[in-house]
Amino acid sequence: MLLRHTPKEINERSAVTINPAKTCQPIGAMYAALGIHGCLPHSHGSQGCCAYHRSALTRHYKEPVSAATSSFTEGSSVFGGQANLLQAINNIFTVYNPDVIAVHTTCLSETIGDDLNQIFDKARKEGTVPAGKTLVGASTPSYVGSHVTGFANMVKAMADLAEPTGKKNGKVNVIPGWVEPSDMEEIKRLAKLVGADITLFPDTSGVLNGPLSGEYHMFPQGGVTVAELKGCGDAIGTLALGDWCSADAARLLDTKHKVPCRILDMPYGLKATDRFIDALRIISGTVVPDEVSYERGQLVDLISDMHQYFYHKKVALFGDPDQLISMTEFLVSIDMCPVHIVTGTPGKRFERRIKELTKDSPFPVNVRAKGDLFLLHQWIKNEPVDLLIGNTYGKYIARDEDIPFIRWGFPILDRQGHQYFPTVGYKGGLRFLEKVLNALLDRQDRDAPEEKFELVY
Ligand code: SF4
Repeated sequence: MLLRHTPKEINERSAVTINPAKTCQPIGAMYAALGIHGCLPHSHGSQGCCAYHRSALTRHYKEPVSAATSSFTEGSSVFGGQANLLQAINNIFTVYNPDVIAVHTTCLSETIGDDLNQIFDKARKEGTVPAGKTLVGASTPSYVGSHVTGFANMVKAMADLAEPTGKKNGKVNVIPGWVEPSDMEEIKRLAKLVGADITLFPDTSGVLNGPLSGEYHMFPQGGVTVAELKGCGDAIGTLALGDWCSADAARLLDTKHKVPCRILDMPYGLKATDRFIDALRIISGTVVPDEVSYERGQLVDLISDMHQYFYHKKVALFGDPDQLISMTEFLVSIDMCPVHIVTGTPGKRFERRIKELTKDSPFPVNVRAKGDLFLLHQWIKNEPVDLLIGNTYGKYIARDEDIPFIRWGFPILDRQGHQYFPTVGYKGGLRFLEKVLNALLDRQDRDAPEEKFELVY
C-alpha cells in the first residue's frame, strides 16, 4: 500500500499502531539462537508463528533458516503445550542431532502460561536430552517489547549457560547486540588487531553469510560454542554493545559470576568505535596498533574531504534503539541533522538519550519510542528531510515524498550487501558514509540545472 493519503495533521493516538517500526519478539530470539554453533532454534507455539519468524529472517539474510516448532493444535492451545514440546525435544535430538535446542515462547504459549524450565526439567528426567546436549530457553511474549526484546532475552539465556571454574581464562566477553553477521566478523577482526582474546556471543558470522559450497550443512561452521558460553563465567570482563540488546546478559554475568561489565554503545561511527576500541585496549591490557589508527584516519579523512556535502542536511531515521543512538551520534558528529527519529521498541530512556545527543541541533528534533512509520511520515510531511535512513519499509515513504533513501537496519528485503559489508567500526563507517554521499550526490545530479551539473565533487 502506498502512503499518499497519509494526512499532514497529527492527532495523538494511543490505541492503534499504523505501519509498526518493529516486529515480534521471537524473530529476535531466533536470530540470536542462530549465533550458537550447532543450534536448532525452536518456536514453542503454532506453525504459523514459526513460519513467519523463519521467513522474516530468510528474506533478510537470503539464507535458509531452519527452525522447529511445537505445532500447537486446538488441544495444546487450551491445555498447554508441554506434551508437544517434550515430543519435539525427543524428535529433534533423534532426527537432527543438534548440539543445542534454543526454545523461545510465543504469544500463545505465554498466554497459556507454559513454563519452559519446568518442561526442560521433565525432558531431562525422561532421558530425552542426550549427554552433552544443551537446552536453552527464553520467554518471548510478543505483546510486550519488540524483536529487540526477544533478542536480548535469548542472549541473556545464553549468558546463563556460563559455568565458572573459579579460574580466570583471560578472555573478554563481547556481546555485539543485533548487528549483521558482517558486523560480527568486523568486531572479531578489530578485537584480533587490538590483541584482545574475545568470546563473541551471539555470533552469526559464518552462519547467515556463509559461502555457497555446493554442500548443505544444517549446522554451519560459525557460531559461539556451548563450551565457549560456559567459559564466559571465567572471563576477565564483558563489553556489552548496546543497552537494549546486550546489557541484561552482561549484568547477569556480573551479578551472578562477578564478571565486571561495561555497557557501551554499538560501534557505529567514529566516536562510538573509539570508545569500543579504547575499552578493548584497557580491559585486555594491550595497545591500539597502527593498523587500527590508520583505518580511523581514513574515516576522518573522508569526513573532512566531503564535509560540505553533509553539512546541515536533515535526516529522518527509524529502526532499533541501540543502532539509532550510535547512528544519531555519528550523523551529528559530521554536522548532519537528524530531525525525526522513531523506534518501535518501547523505552523512554531512548527519547532522553536522543534529545541529549541532538541538544545543539539548529532544527527542532522529533523523537519517539514505541512510535510507528505513520507518525514518521507525518513528521516528514510537516518538516521535509534530505535523507531517510531505515529498513526496507521506508521505501514507501521515500517514494511518496521523493526522498533519497538508505536501507539500514532490519529487515532489508529488497537489497543485498548487508550480510557481507559491515557498517560497524571505522571501515563500516567508511562504507556507510559512501552510501550517504552516493544518495545525496545522486540526488544533486538528478536535480541540478544544466549549468550546475558538476563533473567533480
Ligand atoms: S502470534 Fe505473537 S509470536 Fe506469533 S507471529 Fe504473531 S506476534 Fe509473533
